[in-house]
Amino acid sequence: MSEVVERPGIPGEIRRCTRCVMHDGIAGVVLDAAGVCNHCHLHEKLDRLYPLTDAGHAELLKIVEKIKRDGRGKTYDCIVGISGGRDTCYCLYKCKELGLRPLAVHFDNGWDSEIAKTNLRRVLEGLDVDLHTVVADWEESRELTNCTIRASLPYIDMTDDVGIVSALYRTAAREGVGWIIHSHSFRSEGINPLRWNYMDGRLVHHIIKRFCRIKLKFFKNVELRHFFWWVFVKRIKTFTITNYYDDLGNKIEEFLGEQYGWQSTGGWHFDNEIFGLACHYSRVKFGIDWRIPEFAAWVRTGEMTREAALEELEETPAIESAEIVGYGLKKQGIGDEEWQQILAAEPRYFTDYPTYYPVLKLLSPLIWLLGRLHILPAHTYEKFFKT
Ligand SMILES: [Zn+2]
Repeated sequence: MSEVVERPGIPGEIRRCTRCVMHDGIAGVVLDAAGVCNHCHLHEKLDRLYPLTDAGHAELLKIVEKIKRDGRGKTYDCIVGISGGRDTCYCLYKCKELGLRPLAVHFDNGWDSEIAKTNLRRVLEGLDVDLHTVVADWEESRELTNCTIRASLPYIDMTDDVGIVSALYRTAAREGVGWIIHSHSFRSEGINPLRWNYMDGRLVHHIIKRFCRIKLKFFKNVELRHFFWWVFVKRIKTFTITNYYDDLGNKIEEFLGEQYGWQSTGGWHFDNEIFGLACHYSRVKFGIDWRIPEFAAWVRTGEMTREAALEELEETPAIESAEIVGYGLKKQGIGDEEWQQILAAEPRYFTDYPTYYPVLKLLSPLIWLLGRLHILPAHTYEKFFKT
């Protein structure tokens, strides 16, 4: 069965994947002769690379032993980025269960909800893990988000991601810790199309130079030279531990609730309060719905039926309520008239600005190798060059 969807304002017919809910109106999504999308094939490939079997578990234990060996004699053997959300909290629990000695690192961009902060504290206390928090200067953080909006780019969290990467690597380098544990999950979060959220240090540098209206004193960009220093001189490696365990469904929330008093934030991505504004902006201006890749992953793993996903995608996400979006705009200092101008401005993508991407594409075989050697996050190659 193949399905055709037509949407107002989007030219031509859009064909929906017969297996998940991705469609070929999304840049980079291609359907094969059977109507199955390349993201479904990528999911299958990653499932084969990281099977949830005894062999997969043995591989996990092997890497964990290496992390322990590398960390001998040090206070911590790994760094775990934590937001207070289900994925990072459960990842931290798994690290402790496996006998690792993590230092938790939190990047505070000024948008943490109260419930996320409480969850973070409860889980850290319950697991007896030390926390290092990097707080962004609020005025700068707000201006950097507005820079991305002025650049008409779809991913307004871009500079927050720089802040997170910077916090993880700089803390690891300073503490002499050799491993950073990532908790992105292709099974429970899916893989976003490249055009939606590609970012790199060159793009950020250029956006700041062109659109920033204040002098930045604290923000530290991550450029290739920083990255080379961290991975080749400081020898910091990464490990996406989520590839090796089952993190699907409500059982994770229930477990965290029973063990640590972790509370649900009450809705999809309610833990970070800028997300309402971010979702609304990218959906209305670019037709980007961040739920699609995530629901697609849940459909593939059987956590959600395809019918239920399609039905929910017809509804506006609860996080885009007028109250939440209005709160975001007020906090960003964006008035009604300016907001309308922002939404009406021509959409841009990373391909409209200088980036490292063309060089990285030439180096893609090297990036594949660095991914397999744990120098870059797992499946960087698959996401950046194969979707
Ligand atoms: Zn699909």
